[in-house]
Amino acid sequence: MADQRPLVADLTRSASTSSVTVAPWQVVLYADGARIAERPQYLDEMHQQIGLSTVIMAGPVRLSPQTWALNPIVSAGATHGPGGFVEGDDRAVRTALDEVHRRGMKAWLIGGGYHGAAAEAPDCMTVDLTGRPLDVECPPQWTFEASKTHCACPSNPRLHDFYRAAYAEVARNYEYDGSALTHVRYWQAGVYTGLLHCGCQHCQKRAAALGFDFPAMRSSVLEVAQALRQVPTRYLRDAAAIPFDAADFLHLITPHAEDFVAWLTFRCRTIADSMADVRQAVHQAVGDREFAWGMDTYFPTFARLVGHDYRLLSGALDQMVPLLSHVAIHGYQSLAAYAQALVDTHPDLPETDALRVTYRLFGWDGFGLPQTAIAALECLEPDMSESRSPELLSMMKSELAKARILGGDTPMYPVLKGRIWPQSVIQELTAEARRLGFAGVTYQGTDLLESRAVGG
Ligand SMILES: [Zn+2]
Repeated sequence: MADQRPLVADLTRSASTSSVTVAPWQVVLYADGARIAERPQYLDEMHQQIGLSTVIMAGPVRLSPQTWALNPIVSAGATHGPGGFVEGDDRAVRTALDEVHRRGMKAWLIGGGYHGAAAEAPDCMTVDLTGRPLDVECPPQWTFEASKTHCACPSNPRLHDFYRAAYAEVARNYEYDGSALTHVRYWQAGVYTGLLHCGCQHCQKRAAALGFDFPAMRSSVLEVAQALRQVPTRYLRDAAAIPFDAADFLHLITPHAEDFVAWLTFRCRTIADSMADVRQAVHQAVGDREFAWGMDTYFPTFARLVGHDYRLLSGALDQMVPLLSHVAIHGYQSLAAYAQALVDTHPDLPETDALRVTYRLFGWDGFGLPQTAIAALECLEPDMSESRSPELLSMMKSELAKARILGGDTPMYPVLKGRIWPQSVIQELTAEARRLGFAGVTYQGTDLLESRAVGG
């Protein structure tokens, strides 16, 4: 694929046909700060070849004792904290930032959020609506091991205080131009048991303060889960034969629909509000300097299942990076997990019917995805499943359009994969992103391209 890179370069630098004046098209890459410091001409090569204008990077930082005193990973002291904060030699990061800016480019900080953040901070871990942590349960079979990582609660004050202080301090002391945080969410959508989180005391208080009826939401969510197990198999088979969609699903759970939806919204509010609060601290820390506070956002179709609501997030962030690159993990594994849940709870239901019901529930039934067996999705094999087109292309175009429609005026830089996907798909999606009015595009996994740039 490396020898096809000039095609991407031509595309990303093509002139817009729109008569509307827009900000310059941004080409963003995930990069390694230490490597940039070591070999800064990489930036020039990427600029020349794909129009690179912004890098997303991170590295060790120096945080004050006051900030480290807030570290919820108590045993780590001032060595490392949740979100990927590592205390250490920051000379390479500073050199990389200088090299980026010397070229008129921008650098966005990448850091973590909630998923995975409680691995060493059990006090911050979410609990489900019955008071149990997720690690006592088995994750769905169609998800990677990473799904077992503990999730931290977005309402946990100790974690929030650390993030607020740490992100503000990094923004103040390092010349980043913005951020593209990641994993600022609950478990990926395929880990559907994560939907029962978080029911901790902090979340209960927060719900009350926001006007949500927590006891009503809890009973509705638990009763919906039970009610779905009891839907007769023959109903599911009939549903598979018709366009039974998400609106019909809500109709099916009428007595609980309102509080079930309120629960999803509440989870989205906790994340959006927390990010808005950290943004305020960051902006205060940098004063007049511009800092675009942002994070990656989930596939729009599944976003509200992981605590992401594009409408709410657009008001809490300065920029969004729709993370559309991991189709197998966030798309196909979600479909497989829900289809498998139907089969597990209804052993007489053929997989083909379970798949059809699931596709329609999420609106992914028109993309030509495998119909016969859950395994045919090859969701644990990204190299296989993500190289399939045209379903990849049509599905990704749909997600791009949804992100654009739902994201409001907030600048967005959707992430496309720079590997595995067929080159023609990457090209077409880049053009589609431009046509839809995104502010730019982010490429992830350009290792083949990169090795060519350094002469490999
Ligand atoms: Zn909680």
